[in-house]
Amino acid sequence: ATPTALLTGTGRGAQLGILIRGPQVLEDTRTVDTIVLDKTGTVTTGTMAVHDVVAFGHRTAQELLRLAGAVEAASEHPIARAIADHAAGAGRLAEAVDFSSAPGGGVRGTVGSLTVTAGRAAWLHRNRISPSSEQETACSAAENAGTTAVWVAVDGAVEGFITLSDTVKETSAAAVGRLRTLGLRPILLTGDNRAVALQVAASVGIDAADVHAGITPEGKVDVVRALQASGATVAMAGDGVNDAAALAQADLGIAMGSGTDVAIEAADLTVMGNSLEQVAQAIELSRRTLGTIK
Ligand code: ADP
Ligand code: MG
Repeated sequence: ATPTALLTGTGRGAQLGILIRGPQVLEDTRTVDTIVLDKTGTVTTGTMAVHDVVAFGHRTAQELLRLAGAVEAASEHPIARAIADHAAGAGRLAEAVDFSSAPGGGVRGTVGSLTVTAGRAAWLHRNRISPSSEQETACSAAENAGTTAVWVAVDGAVEGFITLSDTVKETSAAAVGRLRTLGLRPILLTGDNRAVALQVAASVGIDAADVHAGITPEGKVDVVRALQASGATVAMAGDGVNDAAALAQADLGIAMGSGTDVAIEAADLTVMGNSLEQVAQAIELSRRTLGTIK
């Protein structure tokens, strides 16, 4: 395409709320044949809601929620926001100190004289905490029912878990269909558990074989790299919460406008409307600009 056509395409993108880093991006978009979609905040709304607080009997569910909420208040993760808000709704949040966290893992802090650890199993293990097999069974049942479960441990002992759920964006299923029509193979990538990932995939029309669940932020980069090594040209859409490195690795990085500054910096394209429909629109726009479709 001529430089003028590319500039016109970039301008048209801006009108549609699609920010394109430079005219070259439209050229790069042409060869993309695979699109990796981050689940939380990209395919789903990313606004999570607490479903249930399961306490194993050391203290009440309300007390466990209060402790978890105090530590999660220091984290920006959608899971953290949901837990902290839910806890705040039941009473004033306690103060947490000595906060630490692992991206895509969980949080830890001290509330009064208690050390509270909340997050996925791998994060508990890193803090030398292990659920019993009965506790694991209870948690797996909740996950198989399609919720995201977060373990809560106090002073090194597992005391329960909190389940949360997220909602698939209304536009996601149609958008995945449109991406397929454009010849792209959609792949779902998430740090969340497999049962939730499979439910989301099924509801938007992504094949179970193309679901990568339980993936750490570094693992997400490896998934993109492996696809590239197998010959794919990869676009990836994400919100930057634990996926910014993968966005940077992709041949075409697409950030949700609601995403983090890191995502927008790492991305070639930013869609201001936060919808996957706009991602499809961006790819259609580049192909139209380059004359590959009318
Ligand atoms: P996704 O890939 O769906 O965007 P993330 O990589 O952000 O998910 O997180 C993966 C998993 O790590 C979450 O499903 C959760 O189990 C755990 N996790 C991440 N951050 C937190 C947090 N602040 N509190 C509790 N658990 C967390
Ligand atoms: Mg995410």
